[in-house]
Amino acid sequence: YVESILRDEKNSVELQNGEDVRVALAFPNYYPLGISNLGYQTVYRLFNEIPGVRCERIFVYEPPLDYFARTLESQRQLNEFDIVAFSLCYEVDTLNLFRILENGRIPLLTRDREGNEPLVIVGGVITFLNPLPLAPFVDVFLLGEGEELISSFVNVYRECKSHGFSRHQCLSRLAAHENFFVPSISPKTHRKLKVHHVNVRAHRPAFSPIITPRGHFGEMFLVEVGRGCSRRCRFCAASYIFQTYRSNEITSLKQTIQAKAPSERITIGLVGSALADYPALPQLCRWLLQNNYRFSFSSFRLDKLTPEILQYLENSQIQTVTGAPEAGTERLRRIIGKPLSDFQLYEVVEAFAATRIPRLKLYFLIGLPSEEDADIEGIIVTVKNIHRILLTSGATKKQLRVSINAFIPKPFTPFQWAPMDMEKNIIRKRRYIERELRQLKEVTVASKSLRGELLQTLITLGDERVGLALLESYRYQKNIFKLLPGYGVDSSSLLYQPREFEYPFPWDIIDYPIPKDKLWRDFVAV
Ligand code: SF4
Repeated sequence: YVESILRDEKNSVELQNGEDVRVALAFPNYYPLGISNLGYQTVYRLFNEIPGVRCERIFVYEPPLDYFARTLESQRQLNEFDIVAFSLCYEVDTLNLFRILENGRIPLLTRDREGNEPLVIVGGVITFLNPLPLAPFVDVFLLGEGEELISSFVNVYRECKSHGFSRHQCLSRLAAHENFFVPSISPKTHRKLKVHHVNVRAHRPAFSPIITPRGHFGEMFLVEVGRGCSRRCRFCAASYIFQTYRSNEITSLKQTIQAKAPSERITIGLVGSALADYPALPQLCRWLLQNNYRFSFSSFRLDKLTPEILQYLENSQIQTVTGAPEAGTERLRRIIGKPLSDFQLYEVVEAFAATRIPRLKLYFLIGLPSEEDADIEGIIVTVKNIHRILLTSGATKKQLRVSINAFIPKPFTPFQWAPMDMEKNIIRKRRYIERELRQLKEVTVASKSLRGELLQTLITLGDERVGLALLESYRYQKNIFKLLPGYGVDSSSLLYQPREFEYPFPWDIIDYPIPKDKLWRDFVAV
């Protein structure tokens, strides 16, 4: 199985021999997802670009290989490495982090690890939102963007190794760095942790050095157009934690694609949460098409989806256009900071209907702060109107996919003080929407699992106690919500109670990118 994975890969990362630092880089989910993750691929490349470092990959393997905990490249056991690094993007993947460590025979709790065992380090966006639920299991968190942090980490680690420092001495040395959080030491230093951001233009654009048909999106070369978003929708962590919107120059994007994409038949996946704000996007799309590349992107701001961009997407033979109105009424969209008017929305749908692209996918959130029944009704009316436009003015037959997800309060956003909607309300609203849209043949309504959403919220808002309860639930296959009282956590107040300004969030140990009182004023203003 492992050999067939490697055979299918076009891999431009050279692994070094004679290395003095050995890293096993884990993605706590299945291979197709990990290999389609630009952050994971970038970290893999960055480690291997450092002289003397050899970084190999490990994923969660599918049954019957789910016990397997060896790296892809050399099939070595995890405990043969100096460092086991995790790239973590989704809260619920924490359970897979347990699984990988356990299968690799590494003690799950940091306090149980001995001197010669690998250091377990974690990076990725989840860790600089709220690292605390993971704190009992992680030796070092790397807080921030990897381009400069990874080499800083290796420098300190290598120095410790060459001096023959003990595990504790090494961790103390790492804890002195303002972007490294060492849970066993850092809380005693009483200083705020800082998240490291880079000037993206000082680095080569992030790209995926490995391409494989087994990727979640098929054979695709990913390249990062920009990072962050300046729109400040009040629920969106991506806009706040990355501080400012930073983009790559079009010339360096073109150079990266020409130099690194293995052939022109590969689809280019343009990555960035604010692609619509990239001023040279039309120019980039034209250049890609003129050079016979196909391209695609994930969700796109609907008010910026012009007929010109749609035409490029159609020429690129894209199958689905994805957008996120988020709320069903203009009133609620204004409140959440995404003021898309109905007129703009329907105008975009008309332009989409005129293309030959077969599918439109729209994301909505339910349970947003200050949501009323009229907003749920608004989702139904909006979807019905869009369906009618697609039926009456569609150049070709269209499908409409609607995704209804629960609002989850995110750290460092104005809505961090807002509660999640009650479980019974989420179920009721979803059922109502599904029932009302069921008769529309071309419309599919999908939702994430409620259990997954509740677990995600717990991990997003919780602290070490939630992490320890999660471990017990993983070990003994128990319901975490029943275990939480034993750890002193009242889950209903954590999830469902509104918070005051003074509420002590677990992530208050990290410097706020935007002052907390400013976020609070923005929250109460709406
Ligand atoms: S939801 Fe989209 S437009 Fe709004 S801040 Fe986030 S990335 Fe930007």
